[in-house]
Amino acid sequence: MSFDLVLRSRRVVTPAGERAAAICVRDGRIAAIHDYHAVDGQDLGAMALLPGLVDTHVHVNEPGRTEWEGFSSATQAALAGGVTTIVDMPLNSLPPTVSVEALRVKRRAAAGQCHVDVGFWGGAVPDNLADLADLHAAGVFGFKAFLIDSGVPEFPPLDPADLRKALAAVDTTFLIHAEEPAEITSAPSSARYADFLASRPATAEQRAVADVLDAARATGARVHILHLSAAETLPLIAQARRDGVRVTAETCPHYLTLTAEEIPDGATQFKCCPPIRGRHNRDALWAGLVSGAIDCVVSDHSPCTPQLKRPDVGDFAAAWGGIASLQLGLPVMWTEARRRGHDLAELVRWMAQRPAEIVGLTGSGRIEVGADAHLVAFDPDASFTVEPAQLRHRHPVTPYAGRTLTGVVRGTWLSGHPVTPEGPPRGRLLTRTDV
Ligand SMILES: [Zn+2]
Repeated sequence: MSFDLVLRSRRVVTPAGERAAAICVRDGRIAAIHDYHAVDGQDLGAMALLPGLVDTHVHVNEPGRTEWEGFSSATQAALAGGVTTIVDMPLNSLPPTVSVEALRVKRRAAAGQCHVDVGFWGGAVPDNLADLADLHAAGVFGFKAFLIDSGVPEFPPLDPADLRKALAAVDTTFLIHAEEPAEITSAPSSARYADFLASRPATAEQRAVADVLDAARATGARVHILHLSAAETLPLIAQARRDGVRVTAETCPHYLTLTAEEIPDGATQFKCCPPIRGRHNRDALWAGLVSGAIDCVVSDHSPCTPQLKRPDVGDFAAAWGGIASLQLGLPVMWTEARRRGHDLAELVRWMAQRPAEIVGLTGSGRIEVGADAHLVAFDPDASFTVEPAQLRHRHPVTPYAGRTLTGVVRGTWLSGHPVTPEGPPRGRLLTRTDV
């Protein structure tokens, strides 16, 4: 039997754990997995071989706000960071992905410039609920909805009645930004992080998550809680799951690694919504991840122009809320996961396998026969210091500047082809109906 590529490593991370193996690739997929010594091939030795990460929460912002980020820069950053599949959020681009025509516009904008595979979420807004089934049929992987102001006027939130209408409209995954507006006060103009944090309390997430779970219970719909920040919501989610509610939840590297206590005055690169909370909350989120109450970790890569972060005044109320971390999520998470005694197999489950399963890309995010040959050679012991200027995000604004992180991506294969951010774009545009 002949193969296009054979990669051998003593640390191949499979769904069953780490093992020495030879990964044999044909026609873009993993065709066989043999013993490490059984076949010849490129030998990675003690370097780990991971499935490429699957990041289901990325705001690419093109077209319309391409000066914030774009398909070329975002996917180069992804590739450099060991992420081989992203799913683009429907908002912050113009038009937002809320109609079949808008999806066409988005796919046209992305065509020919993606360095990793790219799929698309649709958006559910008050005036497109009758069109959700058509948009779903056109290939989006599910729908995102807000219960609160999204930050951009063209993507308004759903009220509770419209949320139920949306959930009943089509059987797919509904991603919910869960913060309850009645619990949120407008942040005072201030350079103190504590003032911003106090304006978006944990109760806002608790109430919103409870409402979403009630709506899922009533409709039988499948819901996914986005960027969970408040650990107080975890018992609600765990109980709902025991009751048979179809619910999954994600959190992000920044909630698991950064804490409110360490955010300096005026450091608006740390601003995101919901906010980064205190140290005890961070530890409780880790416990939720380990227990399975939280399914996965994705970036919520949400950049903007540096000016919109208002570094001139350091005002947390005025700054855009969003953290750009597509290129850094893997080492940020590995650094903290390893410190807490976790292994690469857990990291891969949280950042590749589970997100792929939730979005429905079951042939990706895992090293097994039949899966996409999206592979990453990862040195788990090497370290580096984050230099913003070396990031491939459109704008080098990051809360991780100057941090020393462990874990370096040494090589990446997309559908079995060796790829680099400088090389030609080989990413595919993914459609739910082709999966
Ligand atoms: Zn987001």
